[in-house]
Amino acid sequence: MSNGSLNDRMMPDCTSPSYLRLYKSGELQRRRDSLLAHLSSCDICPRECRVDRTAGQRGFCHSPRSIIVASACDHHGEEPVISGSRGSGAIFFANCNLRCVYCQNYQISQAADAFAGREEGAEALADTMLQLQDVLRCHNVNLVSPTHFVPQILEALCLAVERGFRLPLVYNTNAYDSSDVLRLLDGVVDIYLPDIKYASERVAARLSGAVDYVRAAREAITEMHRQVGAEVVLDREGTARRGLLIRHLVLPGGLAGSRESLSWVARDVSPHVTLSLMAQYYPTHHALHMPLLSRRITAQEYLDAVTIAQDLGCDHILAQQPGAAAFYRPDFDAAHHPFAPGDG
Ligand code: SF4
Repeated sequence: MSNGSLNDRMMPDCTSPSYLRLYKSGELQRRRDSLLAHLSSCDICPRECRVDRTAGQRGFCHSPRSIIVASACDHHGEEPVISGSRGSGAIFFANCNLRCVYCQNYQISQAADAFAGREEGAEALADTMLQLQDVLRCHNVNLVSPTHFVPQILEALCLAVERGFRLPLVYNTNAYDSSDVLRLLDGVVDIYLPDIKYASERVAARLSGAVDYVRAAREAITEMHRQVGAEVVLDREGTARRGLLIRHLVLPGGLAGSRESLSWVARDVSPHVTLSLMAQYYPTHHALHMPLLSRRITAQEYLDAVTIAQDLGCDHILAQQPGAAAFYRPDFDAAHHPFAPGDG
């Protein structure tokens, strides 16, 4: 991806991650407890399944009271301001609250049975966060698909902070988030990295199994913007310390509703927000058997999305090289790193 024009947002000094202040005042622990209480009638995401996860029940996301981490690694394939030179400390959570037919992470997002017996406690997640900081020396901890584990993440964060954890937190989400839950992350998350997948509820229902995705995602992104503003603030190394970066994956045949979604962002969020326009779609999972989704996007389809954003006055656009799909294709069955050359 190109780095757009983010260099003008450089900070003179690094700031501490925002959650430290909340931890010192006891507010982080109060938020943790408040969120954990929601697991007994789960409304952590917009599905509001109301199952009792503390009693072993599982809702749409098949996720228990404990945590399931599918993979953790230094990830060098995110946007340059996220990956930096030493990599982003990606923690890929198992399961998901969407069922995208083309999910590139379907091996971990839609295979709950594969993770039987992989449940772990908050202490283990805190260990992982500290390893990403102290051993791999990553720039941040990048919580990938965190929505259904938010209470447990705060539980682990409190333990990790006690043991010296200081990295910024990236909340890397499909944006099918509850805005009530997001309000409890105000001052906890430093960098929001949401998708905006669709502009049509009908398409969202068909391709991701969420009948209210557009409403929920727009509400969620509005809340994220309220918390951190439109700018991505960089440290001396040029990596993000705070802000909002919205991703939009261009789908074949206009299924992502790029014009409408980008118009909403420019009008209702800000034309100055950083937009990451992704060209990396490739048919996988159920999409291989769906005519509309069984091809890559064309160069023209991608160029059209970039042009729309430019015409809307968006002035911080991160663009991918067409043909990026191979580089971004993970393999969670690989023995070691899901993005290792030759594994994908
Ligand atoms: S987090 Fe899971 S169980 Fe809870 S409301 Fe969402 S899909 Fe349902």
